[in-house]
Formats: sequence, structure tokens, C-alpha cells
Amino acid sequence: MKKEVSLSLKCPNCCQSLMDEQHTICDKPSIKLNVETEHERGVLRLCCIYGNCSKTTDVAIDEGEIVAMFCPHCNQELSIKENCEICGAPLVAFFIKAGGTVRICSRNGCTNHAIVFKDVSEEMSKFYYEYGF
Ligand SMILES: [Zn+2]
Ligand SMILES: [Zn+2]
Repeated sequence: MKKEVSLSLKCPNCCQSLMDEQHTICDKPSIKLNVETEHERGVLRLCCIYGNCSKTTDVAIDEGEIVAMFCPHCNQELSIKENCEICGAPLVAFFIKAGGTVRICSRNGCTNHAIVFKDVSEEMSKFYYEYGF
């Protein structure tokens, strides 16, 4: 069986947790974000298992549409000044509680995501310790 890494994420701006224990996806707390499409605003919930792209949302997002994602606490937009190397859409970044940053592509349907560590050796060892793989 493939080992799963579930991430506990927080807002890079206000540092509040983005985890929603009330709404689970794949039996894990979901990552709750406010989203804005061209037409409407709503809530997006992502699966916290790294590499699993399950999500639920109450807005209609077209395949290939870029969605703006906001922290539900401070309402800051979470996009960063870097674009997806696959599709060119803005990347969105979250802090991982254990250390490091996870980046995902803001385009619906693009599965580009990566974990970035500032200090690889130190953060990775912490990461391995926390998640035990
Ligand atoms: Zn925030
Ligand atoms: Zn992309």
C-alpha cells in the first residue's frame, strides 16, 4: 500500500489553521478555502492527503478555469508571484504546520503541486519525524 502523507496547513499570512475538522474528505479534516471564480464566490475544500486531488466545492468551476483562493480567516489571496510550470496559472501557497510550504496550481484540473522546504535537511527531518515515513 502506498504511504499517505496528510498535511496540516495554515495560512501564510495570518498563520491560522486552514483545517476544517467538521468536514472530512477521505476521512481526514479538509482544507477549507474561500474561492472566487469569474462568476461567483464560494467555499472550496481540498483533501489534505498529499498527492490526492479530491475536492468539494459549492461553486461551479469549469475544467481549466483559474480560481482565486483566499484564507477564510483573514481573506488574503493566497497566490504567489510564481506561475505553474505546466499551465502558467498562478501558484497558491500554504504553510505546513510541521514546516515548509506546499504549492498548488490555481487552475482547476491541473494537478501540479509541490512541497518546498526552505532548509531541506532540517525541515525534511522534521517532516519525516512528524509523518513517520
Ligand atoms: Zn489568513
Ligand atoms: Zn497548472
